[in-house]
Amino acid sequence: MQATRARTLAEWRRDTSTRMTGLREIDRKASPVSPKLSEEEKGIVRSVQMGGTMAKQHIAAFDQSTDDKCTYCKEEGASGSHVRWQCKYFEPTREETDKDLAQIPRHYLLECIRCGIAPAMKIEGELTSWGMTVDKKESRKTKDLLGVSMEMKTAGENGDITRKRSEAVELIEDPARGMKNARQTILMHKGGHGTGVMPDFPTQQQIKEAMEGHEPGNLVTAYGDGSHTSPKTWWAALGGYGTWIPRWDIQGECLPHRAEDDDYGPAIGQTGSSTRHELMGWIAALVKPIRSMNATDSRAMMTNS
Ligand SMILES: [Zn+2]
Repeated sequence: MQATRARTLAEWRRDTSTRMTGLREIDRKASPVSPKLSEEEKGIVRSVQMGGTMAKQHIAAFDQSTDDKCTYCKEEGASGSHVRWQCKYFEPTREETDKDLAQIPRHYLLECIRCGIAPAMKIEGELTSWGMTVDKKESRKTKDLLGVSMEMKTAGENGDITRKRSEAVELIEDPARGMKNARQTILMHKGGHGTGVMPDFPTQQQIKEAMEGHEPGNLVTAYGDGSHTSPKTWWAALGGYGTWIPRWDIQGECLPHRAEDDDYGPAIGQTGSSTRHELMGWIAALVKPIRSMNATDSRAMMTNS
């Protein structure tokens, strides 16, 4: 008995677990242990997630007094994955616990998922959330549970949605994206702080020339706005700015450089705030060679920045 314990301990400390090989990034939001479980159940799930269990098959590999057959079905090798996901003996329990999950062909579930750890989400809709091809014959329910969604490749209810979807598909299918997951792809397109361009502000002389003919005190009204979506997942937050300057020529005149001006763009940077994008809407007006009066609906921009 003591010898067995010593052997088990030695194997434990050998630190050669390869269970999570290939798992490059964990989805922290999708991996927590359910708070609905009892303390004991939580402990069991956490042990499994950490690879803190040692199945009979594993023990048999270094301890000849242990056989590697499953104690329950007595047919297959007793790996942890077998007992949790394959063993016939426990199939009724799986059905009873989660019928939909029990109906999913198990080969779609990666080893890490079988241990309760979700890998970072991929972005290709026709694949599982973790990037596996799903057989066409699988049911709609199975495909939904695995994360298969053809939404991006389906026409939207109007032209604008269809266009947005096809633009998204272009980003997804861009070969330069490589193996990046959803988070990495979005952050790549958002760019880092400081990767934008330095605004080129006009000189007083340039403003004077562009405003020629206007009364000296005449200000052109510029309307700036910014918006920021803030989903719970910080990296999916997106922002943008827009500036609108109505025609600012003198009555009866029709100069092309004094035509209505519409300027908008995405906000660069990994994180953002609506005030930051509002500010960008203002800066976009300040780079125009005009004396402007800026209209904003952002109190935060006026008081904090
Ligand atoms: Zn079994």
